[in-house]
Amino acid sequence: MVRVRFAPSPTGFLHIGSLRTALYNFLFARKNKGKFILRIEDTDIKRQVPGALENLIIVLKKMGLDYDEGPFLVKLKNKKLVIKQKGKYGPYIQSQRLKIYQKFAQKLVKNGYAYYCFCTQAELEKMRQEQIAKKIPPMYDERCRKLSEKEIKRKLEEKIPYVIRLKVPEEGRIKFYDLIRGEIEFDFKNIDDQVLLKSDGYPTYHLAVVVDDYLMKITHIIRGEEWLPSVPKHLLIYQALGWQPPKFAHLPLILNPDRSKLSKRKSDVAVESYLNLGYLPETILNFIALLGWNPDTNQEIFSLDELIKEFSLEKIQKSGAIFNREKLDWMNGLYIRNKSVNELTKLSLPFLINAKLIEKINRKFKIIQTKEIVDFNWLKKIVSLEQERMKKLADLEQLADFFFKEKLDYSAEILIWKKMNFPQVKNNLKLIKKNLLKISKNKFKTKEIYKTLEKLAKEKGTGEIFWPFRVALSGKTASPPPAEIAEILGKEKTIKRIDEAIKLLNYEDSKK
Ligand code: GLU
Repeated sequence: MVRVRFAPSPTGFLHIGSLRTALYNFLFARKNKGKFILRIEDTDIKRQVPGALENLIIVLKKMGLDYDEGPFLVKLKNKKLVIKQKGKYGPYIQSQRLKIYQKFAQKLVKNGYAYYCFCTQAELEKMRQEQIAKKIPPMYDERCRKLSEKEIKRKLEEKIPYVIRLKVPEEGRIKFYDLIRGEIEFDFKNIDDQVLLKSDGYPTYHLAVVVDDYLMKITHIIRGEEWLPSVPKHLLIYQALGWQPPKFAHLPLILNPDRSKLSKRKSDVAVESYLNLGYLPETILNFIALLGWNPDTNQEIFSLDELIKEFSLEKIQKSGAIFNREKLDWMNGLYIRNKSVNELTKLSLPFLINAKLIEKINRKFKIIQTKEIVDFNWLKKIVSLEQERMKKLADLEQLADFFFKEKLDYSAEILIWKKMNFPQVKNNLKLIKKNLLKISKNKFKTKEIYKTLEKLAKEKGTGEIFWPFRVALSGKTASPPPAEIAEILGKEKTIKRIDEAIKLLNYEDSKK
């Protein structure tokens, strides 16, 4: 049975590249009716961040990448969240498996595949500096590999701290087959005697990853290309322990449009940032699925189920994949337009609340600036108007803030349509007001408003009427059509905004 794993080191946020690794493992497992395992590689104590594991589990859940074995967050009766592990190959958190790694490290020493190294940090640093001075690549010079049995015994008895290093053959090459890259060969000459166990008893990544992939019966290792150079060391450990290695598949790098490596410095790489901006989880998955994989057709939009059906390791490319933010925006806009207004409104609520436009009060909402109480249906009308324009959920704040404001802040200039002057615009706004006042409050609906103003527009010109009307209501040069806005604002506020626009023009006029 296929068993694959996602093995992040929790750093406090989930990198876009890691999410792609998780996704491909997930797709491969689901496609092959296998198991998908989450394993936490937290053996680098210096890099530990409190809450990082919980955050990781929450993000994976938000993204819908459910796994079969590993640590899960469970809510207790008292609502506290605790981590519980599921699966018979646990624990799945490496810091809880130290004894296992220590046992195998000692076994490797005993069988002659690894050795104790008693060099101090200072000695290692000196060695490095000397090598740099001699212009040779810095590597451990293997001095402890040559210690006699007696010397080793004495140092151990004296309790001198040690690490355990892998004995990498002095010469020769090692070959292996990568499912994406084909046959790859490495020369031992360039490979350091890797530390496997540190002096504090913690394993390095290299030892822990091999031991766990073996004990957890992993069949395929699917991970980023940056781990490729580690493979020869891992293969040596597999050999030394008499284990059959899993199959390997190394995924292409994700690049910025300028082909530099996607990094924190140049772009947003935290999946959380994208979720916080209102990129939908399904967009993010669809988008990153295509970073390095495509099904050889023109299809670009895939549901998770379609991805499971179509996915295969053979169709993963070797060359780097460009992270194109414009494409992400385009795709998210498409997903947003395909949502029902009801769902989109629900999804938008946290963004409106976060932007401090509204707050939730029981089952209704209070507009923070005006203190009015509105309901879900009112918000739905706004979302429906803006749905076409939204690229991400957070856009709603910019697009629709005028519905929630007490007073708009814009410059009088933008009320002007083409070659009109202030007095003409003012006059038209007065006419608009006069006509709108004729509509009764309960008939103040889009259609009726149009009908009323169309007559006026025939006489004065469409832009001459609808442009200043729209700007008066929204304070913006781009917005949905004004009659729709007017209906949502209601008669009173519509009239008030027209009055304010007239006032603004008066004020500007008086300055001249
Ligand atoms: N812990 C490694 C990481 O943070 C995992 C590498 C692997 O999958 O072997 O990405």
